[in-house]
Formats: sequence, structure tokens, C-alpha cells
Amino acid sequence: MSGEARKIRLIMDLRRSGITDTRVLSAVERVPREAFVSEPFLDQAYENTALPIGKGQTISQPLVVALMSQALEVGERMKVLEIGTGSGYQAAVLAKLCRRVYTIERHKSLLVEAERRFRALHVHNITAVAGDGTRGWPEQAPFDRILVTAAAGEIPKSLLDQLADGGAMVLPVGSPGGDQEVLRIRKKDGKPSVERLFPVRFVPLVAGGVE
Ligand code: SAH
Repeated sequence: MSGEARKIRLIMDLRRSGITDTRVLSAVERVPREAFVSEPFLDQAYENTALPIGKGQTISQPLVVALMSQALEVGERMKVLEIGTGSGYQAAVLAKLCRRVYTIERHKSLLVEAERRFRALHVHNITAVAGDGTRGWPEQAPFDRILVTAAAGEIPKSLLDQLADGGAMVLPVGSPGGDQEVLRIRKKDGKPSVERLFPVRFVPLVAGGVE
């Protein structure tokens, strides 16, 4: 099967699995996932599975990227913060949906690779930095949307503080390697309200320094 045929099959799979937002479907269609996976996994780039990206981390399953992007309800003028750049794939999808993406990764080597991919693909509306994402990015706050792509034990308070009023944050919460679920938190008049969305399995959000 050709790369293009595999991609069409993946998009159909996403639609069947509940991705109805046409902006999200079109963003997934326009971002070449093969540019974000390493050589040994190239033939699996359009399979609906997570794949290793080094440093014990993974590029998320396309369905999870699409579900989280859809849940985030991103508008084209928005400023979005992502925690856990990893391969850079989710950031590249978000970059198609909003004005600017700020993304933080604690593994310097993964960040360097992701930035190289953004340049090669001429994606210019992503600002990436190595750091501890649990602290957010105070200099750039507030953010209209925040997406966390690693699982926290609880909702990081500094991220909630950096969320704009009327904003929303989507993040997996739960124990490492155990039960986790994606939450959506909306902030209205300074008060957060929490919705539980769907179960997932993410690598843990690790507080502390850069590696
Ligand atoms: N969004 C990524 C998938 C990320 S996997 C993609 O599309 O490929 C989760 C990533 O979060 C890993 O790369 C991990 O190193 C990173 N991470 C974990 N804790 C972090 C923290 N406190 N700050 C920033 N990044 C973190």
C-alpha cells in the first residue's frame, strides 16, 4: 500500500473513531507523520499506534493526538501551550489550528530533533524550549489553550494559573503506567470546572530539570 493510501485509511479510521472536527482531520492530513518517526518505524508512520522516539518516550497514537486536539477546541487566533514536545508531531498538528504554539520539552536531544523537523517542514509558528513544563511559561502567559502530553499525578497549579480566563486545558491525569484519564478544564471567571473525557496511557510528566 502506498503512503498516500495508508494516510487515507488512517483519516477514515479517525472519522470512524469519533473525530468529527474537519479542521482537526485536515490538520492530521496535512502534517506528514513520517517526518516525525525514526527510520526503523517509517513503514508504520500511518498506522494508528504510538511509536518509540528515543529516551524511553513515544510519539502518541494518531487517534489520541486527534482526540486531544479536538477536545481542545482550538481557534485560529489562539495562543497554545503544549507540554511535552517529544517528536514535535502534536505541536505541528496544533500549529495548523492556531496562531502560535509554545512547546516545552525536558529532553534536550528530543527538542533539538523536533526543532530540526519544524524547520525542514517550514513550520514557523512554533516556539520550542527545553525546560520543566510543570512550571509552564510565565513570560508568555496567559494561554488560550494548554495541552499536556504526559500524565501528571494531579493538575499542575502553575499551568492553571497561566490559563487565560475563558480558556481550556486538556491533560491526562493518573498514576504512571496505570489508569489515566484525559480531563478538560475550563476556566471561567477565575474558577476551573473539570470534565472527564476518555481513558489513555501516557508516559509520566516528570518535574525537575532538563536532561
Ligand atoms: N507530544 C509528543 C508526545 C510526547 S511523549 C509527540 O507528539 O511526539 C511525552 C513527552 O513529555 C516526552 O518527550 C517527555 O520527555 C516529555 N516530558 C515529561 N515531563 C516533562 C516536563 N516536566 N516538561 C517538559 N516535557 C516533559
